[in-house]
Amino acid sequence: NRQWVLRQRPKGLIQPGDLELVDTAIPDLKETEVLVRTVYLSLDPTNRTWMNDSEGYLPPVGLGEVMRGLTLGVVEASRSSRFKAGDVVMPTSGGWADYAVVQESGLRPVHRAPGLPLTANMSVLGMTGLTAYFGVTDVLKAKEGETIVISAAAGAVGSIAGQIAKQRGCRVIGVAGGPQKCAWLTDELGFDAAIDYKNEDVGKALDRLAPDGVDLNFENVGGDIMIAVFNRLKVHGRMAVCGLVSSYNATKAPPSPNFARIITHRLHVQGFLVLDYAPRAREMVAEMGPWLADGRVKWKVHVDDGLEGAVGSLNRLFTGDHDGKLLVRVSEE
Ligand code: NDP
Repeated sequence: NRQWVLRQRPKGLIQPGDLELVDTAIPDLKETEVLVRTVYLSLDPTNRTWMNDSEGYLPPVGLGEVMRGLTLGVVEASRSSRFKAGDVVMPTSGGWADYAVVQESGLRPVHRAPGLPLTANMSVLGMTGLTAYFGVTDVLKAKEGETIVISAAAGAVGSIAGQIAKQRGCRVIGVAGGPQKCAWLTDELGFDAAIDYKNEDVGKALDRLAPDGVDLNFENVGGDIMIAVFNRLKVHGRMAVCGLVSSYNATKAPPSPNFARIITHRLHVQGFLVLDYAPRAREMVAEMGPWLADGRVKWKVHVDDGLEGAVGSLNRLFTGDHDGKLLVRVSEE
């Protein structure tokens, strides 16, 4: 059973030696335990934050511990009356490993969505979709006619969030890196405009695209991109702080906006965590299901094969060298 173990806390992008792939024996199952073979491992920007020894929404992964990660797998052996071999499951606390021995209480059954591949459960109908859906509908309360700016817009969460905002009648501007990603947003996903932050000044582009200012910001990146949007939020503008991916590898504090604008423009700025919305997943499925079925909302996954490449795969999230929700296929379905 191969497992990625955290050996030292990375400084900047993960370097060789920060994690180690070790081989361990699978222990015998005890009563109520289940052996799960990992099929897909979700790689998420937040994984990098778990490697830091800093206060977060979860404790840091300890040195010598298996790297934490969201997984979907198949039951190989079971001493639980609730799960049998062949069941598709998600452990509530998974890891970067070929196999996991999990207590039955730590497993959720996975219901395949009719007509959709299993990867949907790890993306548009999983945490990614939940984050995008509740960020737009519940945190931002996006309304018809409002102008919304979404950063990391061609990424997993951003691309779905933009399409949901379109369904709510918003005017949607995405910020993404490179002409191909920007063309995908406007030509295929129906975004009203896209700003290529690698080739143009985000502030100037916003002044051109939204001369009266911005109503809503779905923020995934932080730093200079966030500041450019924040400085154009209208009076009573609303900002959902979903992620700050540009700072996850930073070794010094990133630049921040001037909070005086929160006062002068009576802004509503709210951070949120998808974990709080997990109990409301049905609401998302009920509204998104038809959009997915008839193609109104499109989604992509980028699947890398092999647990052994997981570290290199994770780094893709910080270079943008991936096309859709990033997953590792650890074994065949
Ligand atoms: P993505 O698929 O969006 O991948 C990350 C993207 O971020 C990259 O593709 C890249 O896009 C962009 N990016 C990375 N570094 C930078 C940088 N320095 N400057 C500008 N853009 C950068 O990942 P997710 O959809 O999984 O996550 C998106 C955000 O949502 C993250 O901040 C994440 O932490 C957050 N999140 C928050 C959750 C919550 O509960 N609050 C839950 C899930 C995600 P490009 O090629 O365009 O540069």
